[in-house]
Amino acid sequence: MVLVLQVITVLLLIVLIILIALRIRRSKPQSQLPENYKELLAHYVKFYNQLDEEGKVAFEKRVEQFLSAVTITGVQAEVEDMDRIMIAAGAVIPVYNIPDWQYINLHEVLVYPGAFNAEFDQHGDGRNIAGMVGTGALQNVMVLTKWQLRQGFINNNDARNTALHEFVHLVDKMDGTVDGVPEIILERKYTAQWRQLMEETIQQMKTYGSDIDLYGATNTAEFFAVISEYFFEQPDALQANHPQLFAMLERIYKTTAQQ
Ligand SMILES: [Zn+2]
Repeated sequence: MVLVLQVITVLLLIVLIILIALRIRRSKPQSQLPENYKELLAHYVKFYNQLDEEGKVAFEKRVEQFLSAVTITGVQAEVEDMDRIMIAAGAVIPVYNIPDWQYINLHEVLVYPGAFNAEFDQHGDGRNIAGMVGTGALQNVMVLTKWQLRQGFINNNDARNTALHEFVHLVDKMDGTVDGVPEIILERKYTAQWRQLMEETIQQMKTYGSDIDLYGATNTAEFFAVISEYFFEQPDALQANHPQLFAMLERIYKTTAQQ
C-alpha cells in the first residue's frame, strides 16, 4: 500500500513538473525575428545589399528593434518570415540615417491577402488600395496586402514599393499632419522651399505628364510618398531627371554623407 502511494506521488510530481515546463515555454513571447533574417535581407532587400559590413550590422539592429516593438498580424493571410523581413525593411529604409528613430505612432501591421477597400473590408467595391495608414479606431495600425508587399521588394527597380510608401506616410505623420512635409526630420529652413517644389512639380505632372507615378499628383502627401519610392529604388534616375527633388530628398533622408 505504501509503495502504491509512493508511486502515485512520484507520478503526480512528474506530471506537475511537465505542466510547469509547458507553461513556462508557452508564456515566453514568441520572437518575430526569423532565424535566417540576414539571409532573407540579403535575398530580398537591395538597400541592405548596397551597404558595407558596418552598415549591414546597423540595418540588422534596426530590423530587430522594429520587430520587437511592432506586432505583425495576418488577417486571413499567413504571414511568412519573408513578409516580416520585408515589412521591417520598409520601415527601416526611410529612417536608416536618422539616429534613434522609433515609430511611436505604430503598434501593429495587419497583413491582408489581397487588396481591400477604405473600410478594411475585403469584399465589395473599391478593392484597389494596396496599403494604408490607419485613422480613427485604427490609429497606430498599418494595413498592407501581402501581394503588393512582396511585389515591392521583388521588383526592386520600378520605383514602386508599397511598404516603403506607407512608412513614409508614417514619417510624415509624426509631426501631426500628413502633408508631405516631414517637419520632424526636415530642417525648418527648407520646409517652405520643399512645399513649393512639391506643388510646382505636381502642377507640371498634371499639365505635361511625368516619369513620376501620376498617383503622386493627388496631393503633396501622396507626392512625398511616391517620390520617396523613386528616390530609394532608382536614385540615379531621379538625380538625372529631377536634380532639385533629389537634392531635397537627400536633405530629408540625410543620405548625403553616403553619396
Ligand atoms: Zn499613399
